[in-house]
Amino acid sequence: ARKFFVGGNWKCNGTAEEVKKIVNTLNEAQVPSQDVVEVVVSPPYVFLPLVKSTLRPDFHVAAQNCWVKKGGAYTGEVSAEMLVSLDIPWVILGHSERRAILNETNEFVGDKVAYALAQGLKVIACVGETLEQREAGSTMDVVAAQTKAIADRVSNWTNVVIAYEPVWAIGTGKVASPAQAQEVHDELRKWLAKNVSADVAATTRIIYGGSVNGGNCKELGGQADVDGFLVGGASLKPEFIDIIKAAE
Ligand code: 13P
Repeated sequence: ARKFFVGGNWKCNGTAEEVKKIVNTLNEAQVPSQDVVEVVVSPPYVFLPLVKSTLRPDFHVAAQNCWVKKGGAYTGEVSAEMLVSLDIPWVILGHSERRAILNETNEFVGDKVAYALAQGLKVIACVGETLEQREAGSTMDVVAAQTKAIADRVSNWTNVVIAYEPVWAIGTGKVASPAQAQEVHDELRKWLAKNVSADVAATTRIIYGGSVNGGNCKELGGQADVDGFLVGGASLKPEFIDIIKAAE
């Protein structure tokens, strides 16, 4: 069985004071046990040590990105080795905002995923189509190409979670319907079965992201192939607790 996974992507939000408040709220929350749900929050880099040292031990932390290879003369970048040295277990890679705004290609994201895994990080790898691509009927081609660039470079999928995040649903309030999410998750799982292995398809968590909130999480999470969420805006609010509870 795939353990339900709820990630909170804080994106480029929060001051030190606000971050302390969010951590306090999370620390006081009554949520299902770690046997039922894996909770991972992803603050901006500068807050990782603060969050790591103050967050309850049953919740884990993720960086929102890392560099594609060993550190060195790459001004402004943060390496996988640095994250490992701080005991940061997870990293989000290939978020659509980085693909679109920072021009990260499928191959670059695939290289990052492979490098981060090789250093011992666990990876939340994001895929998803734009509205234009969906309307053109190419959703699965886009998602398959993004996933293939990872599959071409990765052999051990144990530490990979795939986040399906349709770009048109991110930050728009236009959540995918449970049927729309399930359709892509199912096709993605079939793609993994065909192109990677039946075992990887059966065990890899595929989580949904894009306008998830306290009101829509239960039905989305009830879909057979939706193994959790990657939450943006709502992960900054107490509502995130309700989303974690959707695991039950
Ligand atoms: P929203 O939940 O704000 O739509 O963002 C989703 C997302 O991009 C998570 O990575």
